[in-house]
Amino acid sequence: MNINDAVKEYQSLSRRIKYFEEAAAVMSWDLQTGAPEKAVIGRSGVIGTISTEAFKMLISEQMEKLLVFLSNPENMPHLSRIIQVSVKEDLKKFNRFKKISAEKYEAYIVLTTQAEAVWKEAKALGDFAIFKPYLEKIVEFLQEAAELWGYDGHKYNAMLDIYEPGVTTEQLDKIFGYLKEKIIDLMGRIKKSGYVPDNSMFLKSYDKDMQRRLSLKILDKMQFDLKRGRLDESAHPFTIKLNLGDVRLTTKYEVNNLTGALFATIHEGGHGLYEQNIREDLAGTPLCTGSSFGIHESQSRYWENFLGRSRPFWEMFYDDLLEIFPEQFNGVSVENIYHGANRVEPSLIRVQADELTYGLHIILRYELEKSLIGGDIKVCDLPRLWDESMQTYLGIIPGHPGEGVLQDIHWSKGYFGYFPSYTLGNIYAAQFFNQMKKEIPDYDGSVENGDFKGINEWLKEKIHQHGKLLKPAELLHRVTGEEINPKYFAEYLEKKYREIYKI
Ligand code: ZN
Repeated sequence: MNINDAVKEYQSLSRRIKYFEEAAAVMSWDLQTGAPEKAVIGRSGVIGTISTEAFKMLISEQMEKLLVFLSNPENMPHLSRIIQVSVKEDLKKFNRFKKISAEKYEAYIVLTTQAEAVWKEAKALGDFAIFKPYLEKIVEFLQEAAELWGYDGHKYNAMLDIYEPGVTTEQLDKIFGYLKEKIIDLMGRIKKSGYVPDNSMFLKSYDKDMQRRLSLKILDKMQFDLKRGRLDESAHPFTIKLNLGDVRLTTKYEVNNLTGALFATIHEGGHGLYEQNIREDLAGTPLCTGSSFGIHESQSRYWENFLGRSRPFWEMFYDDLLEIFPEQFNGVSVENIYHGANRVEPSLIRVQADELTYGLHIILRYELEKSLIGGDIKVCDLPRLWDESMQTYLGIIPGHPGEGVLQDIHWSKGYFGYFPSYTLGNIYAAQFFNQMKKEIPDYDGSVENGDFKGINEWLKEKIHQHGKLLKPAELLHRVTGEEINPKYFAEYLEKKYREIYKI
């Protein structure tokens, strides 16, 4: 085989995989945004078939032959950097899947599909016992998979490698341990302050069409390109990139709560901007996406929290808010809105948590997942350990497993190792934010004026354009000159809440 021919064949196969993935993605988007309720029965087979075809191509003999040839140390130096990194990325995926037999893999897909349905029922009934046997099998499968894939140190590192390559349990124990102490301390001081910001301005009645107008206004200000994207409504907000010219966001409007859709739109807009700004020569390669789950989340959380929950943002957005909802915000000052958007209140449900207590929800899940995969605890221990940690960290105990251990979908789908990326996102975002404020002249002033050009250019140049070409640690180091450092996030939280709560 000659190198040029092999590269061409590899590129064409990669593109073909992408096309199949895009077809499945459109159908899944359709199912979640507008398809009739009963469509799921027929559609899941279509999505399953198309996804399986893409998967078969990825683990095909043709792909194996190409990857082995191109990754040969004699050939590697002759490849472009994009092809080099793409080959490494595909090789990693290839090995991960190839090490598990086809029968086992198929049985696992069936298991997680059933587990998701059982989880839904268990959650609604608040009954952990019916979900337990499924979760036991999932954990067992992942423990076995970790052995097949191999890992250094803790077994859970094999799970982390899927979502946040390069990050280890040993690192996370230190980072999360430090953060846990800081958050709990801050929470205690906030409680002692006795101040409870009024957030009733967000809990009135808001027309859904007007909320959509508000959401589109924010996206426009964020410079999310609506000619290359769109905004729809779904039960759970998400972002899906079909190709560089088609990045779709969803949000969820609630009549009696304005913040739900507002912050969901800003959050997904952050994910969307990342996907829209990836350099064009990565299109059709496995690198045309974010560097990692954590880095992706750093972008959504930067926009949602560091920007969307900041005082300059509300200064800027005040007039629009008054124009669209004059009655609801009549007589409410920017200061009141800013405080209302930053009210801290321990809650049972992760997705409803405020910016401060959110991290504790993640750390709790991380500790349980790690112990479960490591074999230190059993699935049957989960409900008890969950409640104990909730009491220790947040001072509240769920009334039933539906609002406790069963609240998230992740475990039913086998997504162990995913949760840490949410808090890593906040930690990365704080590091980027710190750097951005040093490098962008008059950062606060530009936010107040609604001029996000400088911010967007900075994000695009430093982070977005690279897609998956740079590993998370590499990207972080290039932008900030540092490794993961939770100090910036802790300092950001301290500064913000000290000022609001006067503590
Ligand atoms: Zn997100």
